[in-house]
Amino acid sequence: MHKIIIAVDGYSSCGKSTTAKGVAAQLGYAYIDTGAMYRAVTLYFHQNHVAITNPKAVAKALENIHIVFQWNPATSQNETYLNGLNVESEIRKMYIANQVSQVSAISEVRRAMVAQQQRMAKARGVVMDGRDIGTVVFPDAELKVFMTAQPQIRAERRQTELLAKGDALDLDEILDNIRKRDHIDTTRQDSPLRQADDALLIDTSYMTLDGQIEKLIELARATLALKTHHAPASH
Ligand code: C5P
Repeated sequence: MHKIIIAVDGYSSCGKSTTAKGVAAQLGYAYIDTGAMYRAVTLYFHQNHVAITNPKAVAKALENIHIVFQWNPATSQNETYLNGLNVESEIRKMYIANQVSQVSAISEVRRAMVAQQQRMAKARGVVMDGRDIGTVVFPDAELKVFMTAQPQIRAERRQTELLAKGDALDLDEILDNIRKRDHIDTTRQDSPLRQADDALLIDTSYMTLDGQIEKLIELARATLALKTHHAPASH
């Protein structure tokens, strides 16, 4: 059976990670949340007072940052570890969301993360979600989707998500963070967020999560069928 790379890019709170996770589970693929990696770097910078305007300090910090994902059977998900510590819930907090786009815009940071992401998916059979997976990390991914949704709907989804974790936040504050991040992510010099030429655009504004997963599974099966069909016969 062929294994492919599925790149899920797009704006935040469009349902990327939940969809990617669901698709990976159904296909028996690994799921890699690249946003979590940039969030973990941001947490490290925050905790260690790393000045993002100081290239030497950034380079030194990157040498000391080790990020791994580890499966937690209790939550049935991969959780993010920064230098041996589980930071899964800390990196989802608003103070990290408010700084992550400034950190992820630094080329040095991107270079380190992209190299690790490419190593992690060498054997394919991976669903990777992020901003630059189809354009930079895996331009040769067999299936690429680009997710978008109306900002107001994204903010409402994010608010529900945060509330479920006990963080009650104003919709305006969330909308403001979403708008700012969109702006920085799409206008940064290095690997800006954009739809790859060969990515399929999916507007999830009025889709359910199940509908999104179903749609991607359909696309993945079609891509796999095509691959198998075109593959040279094995003897
Ligand atoms: O996906 P998530 O919202 O957790 O991503 C957090 C931030 O990490 C994004 O707003 C973006 O600045 C950065 N990011 C990135 N490239 C990726 C994934 C995330 O620049 N591949």
